[in-house]
Amino acid sequence: MQKTASSSTLGPDGLNIAESFFKPIQNASPPPPISRNTKISVIGVGNVGMAIAQTILTQGLVDEIALLDVNANKLRGEMLDLQHAAAFLPRTKISASVDYSCTVGSDLVIVTAGARQIAGESRLNLLQRNLALFSKMVPPLAKGSPDCILLIVSNPVDVLTYVAWKLSGFPSNRVIGSGTNLDSSRFRFLIADHLDLNAQDVQAYIVGEHGDSSVALWSSISVGGVPILSFLERQQIVYEKHMLEKIHKEVVEGAYEVIGLKGYTSWAIGYSVASLARSILRDQRSIHPVSVLAKGFYGIEGGEPFLSLPAQLGRSGVLGVTNIHLTEEETEKLRESAKTILEVQSQLGV
Ligand code: NAD
Repeated sequence: MQKTASSSTLGPDGLNIAESFFKPIQNASPPPPISRNTKISVIGVGNVGMAIAQTILTQGLVDEIALLDVNANKLRGEMLDLQHAAAFLPRTKISASVDYSCTVGSDLVIVTAGARQIAGESRLNLLQRNLALFSKMVPPLAKGSPDCILLIVSNPVDVLTYVAWKLSGFPSNRVIGSGTNLDSSRFRFLIADHLDLNAQDVQAYIVGEHGDSSVALWSSISVGGVPILSFLERQQIVYEKHMLEKIHKEVVEGAYEVIGLKGYTSWAIGYSVASLARSILRDQRSIHPVSVLAKGFYGIEGGEPFLSLPAQLGRSGVLGVTNIHLTEEETEKLRESAKTILEVQSQLGV
């Protein structure tokens, strides 16, 4: 099954076409030993995995992408479909296999594989099935790429990031959940839409659980560097709390709405995860709200919850967590969110 983007370079007469096509220039030195390529593996080639792979490809972030799934036909079809776009994309080697050996030597492993919720199934039951799946996937991934960063996307992302951390044996800075990076993008879009400006000029974070107990940090929102709430107060512009709550509700319900309409979410999570891949592999040291080991931050104690906090990401994974000011209400909500996650985690017996 494993097949790479490059085909054989031998012509029908046995001549190496590449060597006869390109003649070396005079006094050229032999090429230096090739420095290591950057490689990403995407585990699970469903809607989310493929949106991530294609966004990473179009942005030319790596030299090599390996795809892994249990569905061999779908996997080969997706690999060929991407390879056929080679003439329009930055050069990237694309391989695919049902065998974990294709992921060996990855710098970043992105896990999107997951069981789907069956009608009437409880979240806990779904989680138990995903736990069984992660127990099969994470050890061989960690063994094949012992220095990689593990980036978990499968839901429920916070608890599964904790599970991946435990199963991999990696230090906590090298296991990250995509967390509320996507929720924060939805938040920034809705604020920008409300104020009729560019979402890239809006700094705003959703933290905590990627889910119902997420926390909107209203106190630290800024637009073009101007703290928005104090600006509105100074200008004596009345803003209504229920309007702010409505925006947060739209963020929380955003995924459900998209899934209700098209069956799954893909494009926004694709861009969101590609932005994380860029920050990590290119050592951008930029700040993203992602799921990290939150113990000890903002008074979160009593367990080892993974939840989203604004974290600085670079080549070694999580470089640190930003110490932003939270109001008492925000801190309280964040601790509640941590409690929700810890309750689920404690039922897993990992
Ligand atoms: P999907 O069903 O389309 O794809 C899942 C893929 O995983 C399938 O191709 C399946 O064959 C594969 N798979 C199953 N078991 C496997 C195994 N043992 N090894 C390798 N591959 C395996 O689902 P999707 O829409 O792509 O969603 C994937 C996950 O991403 C879900 O858990 C979803 O909830 C989650 N998600 C997370 C976010 C986020 O912000 N964190 C956003 C969107 C979706």
